[in-house]
Amino acid sequence: MSIHADIDHVILTEDVIAGRVRELGAQIVRDYASSSKPVLLVAVLRGAALFVADLARAIEDKVEIDFMAVSSYGSSTKSSGVVRILKDLDEDIEGRHVLVVEDILDTGLTLKYLLRNLASRKPASLEVVTLLAKEGKQQVPIECKYVGFSVPDEFVVGYGLDYGERYRNLPYIGVLKPEIYAD
Ligand code: IMP
Repeated sequence: MSIHADIDHVILTEDVIAGRVRELGAQIVRDYASSSKPVLLVAVLRGAALFVADLARAIEDKVEIDFMAVSSYGSSTKSSGVVRILKDLDEDIEGRHVLVVEDILDTGLTLKYLLRNLASRKPASLEVVTLLAKEGKQQVPIECKYVGFSVPDEFVVGYGLDYGERYRNLPYIGVLKPEIYAD
């Protein structure tokens, strides 16, 4: 059962993703060079799990990694706007330089909630790196300091992104064949 057969077209290849992740890592190293404490990457499960694994290795400096899980789409492809924390951070982030690692910025509702929640814990700084941002979809303004790629408003899978919990393990990012949604 090849997962590749379900893909209509690839929008970002493995090589293109790897190149951009290296650039983001180098930029983060430069930007946080003067911080006294290592940056704390806060990855949002589950979509950002693959991205954070590669991004952390592209940051050739001290970093720490923590995870949060929030409720998202389930198996449908529309944002509900309802966000629940399913798993909170293990670390106290007061006084820390926090960099939230997201897979994709769509409506922005998830990040808006998350940023407000994290800001109340008094980090020294709070920024966002998102691998993808959907063009023209944001319903709320979100300051994303680092954006990997802007993508058209299509539902995408791969490299951590799922449809009904599948396709996260694709090494590239692509669009599913229309008939897959009908199943
Ligand atoms: P937002 O709250 O609408 O910005 O949605 C954020 C979350 O929805 C992301 O972190 C993803 O988990 C999920 N999501 C949004 N668009 C897509 C997509 O095209 N493919 C897979 N997941 C998506």
